Amino acid sequence: MAVEESAVPAFEEITEQDELVAWSRTYAREARREWLLDVRFDLVEWEVSTRARRRAAAVKRPEVPDTTVGEPIDWERVPDSDGRPLPCTVSLSWGAFEAFSQAEWGSTLRHELLHIEQFQRDGATGHGAAFKRRAQEVETDVRCRAFATPEWLFRCGDCGTEVARRYRDCAFVREYEAYRSDCCGAGLVRSQPE
Ligand SMILES: [Zn+2]
Ligand SMILES: [Zn+2]
Repeated sequence: MAVEESAVPAFEEITEQDELVAWSRTYAREARREWLLDVRFDLVEWEVSTRARRRAAAVKRPEVPDTTVGEPIDWERVPDSDGRPLPCTVSLSWGAFEAFSQAEWGSTLRHELLHIEQFQRDGATGHGAAFKRRAQEVETDVRCRAFATPEWLFRCGDCGTEVARRYRDCAFVREYEAYRSDCCGAGLVRSQPE
């Protein structure tokens, strides 16, 4: 346990997909304790999507027939279940991770944990009244967060380190040639991700 925790990088130091998963899983465990979320992590898989362009994260889950949010189900009667909730997968968007602050990412994870809480209890999940109530309690948004690919990216002209990103036109975007990178003191290179 202690070994596992120490292997988790700081949020700003994440560069690999498995690091993002490790960080997010650790965060999820802490969030469960702090906000008393009723989630079983042994039935949760994690993955990173590099293709998702809009949704910051999503919970992929099987359709369970005849289920309603707010009405706990007996998993014993669900085919393919051994009495436990069916497994689901949290899909994390790499693009959203790159665009979000740590606080925004944490809020995104709490939103997805609420979907898992509902799914594991009721076999269904949605953004209705019950979700709104829980979202307030765990201080997250009711709507799934969206993200945008930044309009402009600025890199150090020497080593290529990303220096800044901007989502809209602003003085920095126009006057970036006046700036120098912290890493090498070099000029910046501007690009527009597609
Ligand atoms: Zn949602
Ligand atoms: Zn540099």
